[in-house]
Amino acid sequence: MAEKTEINFDVCVFIRTFATRMTEEIKQLKQLLSFPKEITIVTHRNPDGDAIGSSMGLASYLKKLHHSVKVIFPSEYPTSYGFITGIQMAMIFDLDPNAARTAIDKSDVIFCLDFNGLDRVDKLGESIQFSKAKKVLIDHHLEPEPFSDIEFSDTSASSTCELVFKVIDELGDRNKIDPDTGECLFTGLITDTGSFRYGTRPYTYEVAAALKSLGVDDYLLADKIFNSQKEKHLRLLGHCLANRMEIMKDYGVGIMWLTRKDYADFDIQRGDTEGIVNYMLMMENIKVAAFILEQPSIIKISLRSKGDISVQEIAQKYFNGGGHKNASGGGVYASLNDIIDKVKKVMPKYLPKLNV
Ligand code: 5GP
Ligand code: MN
Repeated sequence: MAEKTEINFDVCVFIRTFATRMTEEIKQLKQLLSFPKEITIVTHRNPDGDAIGSSMGLASYLKKLHHSVKVIFPSEYPTSYGFITGIQMAMIFDLDPNAARTAIDKSDVIFCLDFNGLDRVDKLGESIQFSKAKKVLIDHHLEPEPFSDIEFSDTSASSTCELVFKVIDELGDRNKIDPDTGECLFTGLITDTGSFRYGTRPYTYEVAAALKSLGVDDYLLADKIFNSQKEKHLRLLGHCLANRMEIMKDYGVGIMWLTRKDYADFDIQRGDTEGIVNYMLMMENIKVAAFILEQPSIIKISLRSKGDISVQEIAQKYFNGGGHKNASGGGVYASLNDIIDKVKKVMPKYLPKLNV
């Protein structure tokens, strides 16, 4: 009896292994990575936890396959991500455009992570477009543009990190994910889901469980990500909540803004405003939050929503941007006041009037 059970178990493992659906894309990627290549990984401007984690995690995996790997960020990363293994080796296009262009020109393969269109990587987009390298897209944003040769696009994924894990796993290399690589990938899971509060699917938790089993210390990681703020960050948050917030009670919309003077007064650097927009959604009845930033040459807007309201549509239609249904952004050349007024005009088109 015991023997029979054992045989059945072996048969099950055999069938499962060989029945694993090997998609056409995975086959192509396996072929592409079958001998050492010059590889460049590029992610979007103003890289966030998912962009950084997926890029550095994939880089660390590809190095294990003996490829020569470079990572390019179009602009600087927030200093709070300095703990990510290997991040100091990443190139920053804004700081050294020639080195970044040379890396692109020498590449056999370019991975494009966490963005869906070449305009999201600024001037690097042109170099990528005209490069002869094979382009591999791994992304979870809506409406990817057709610029890649191999596309892993899944808008139901919580994060690009989740997809990078899936791709590595389907290549049969889950065991090549060491704790450092796993920490990179877990970073995107945590940050793009607001600590597993939104954008998840059952598979997200499977990936989290797998990464934890592979040795990721999620408690320590969350501490590194969230408890590393400087005094000025908390003072800036206080300023935003106390002095720069307006509520459209009739429609359940929160609007916040920062002026160029605020940027100087609070010494705001790249990444310092990340996460602030979400505070408005903590208020009862608030369904949409808009955070408008008066940056040196452009007005940047961050939009967040709850439930069925698509800020992706609003960002695309009115603010020259895009992203996800519940988290989008855009950039417009206009005055701060014009954009605040525009937000006030646009929101009633998307939200019912409340009886308050
Ligand atoms: P955030 O508000 O944090 O800057 O961005 C939220 C989401 O919107 C991110 O997924 C980001 O990729 C997307 N996003 C932000 N700014 C832009 C933009 O200017 N254009 C497009 N297409 N997407 C953006
Ligand atoms: Mn992402």
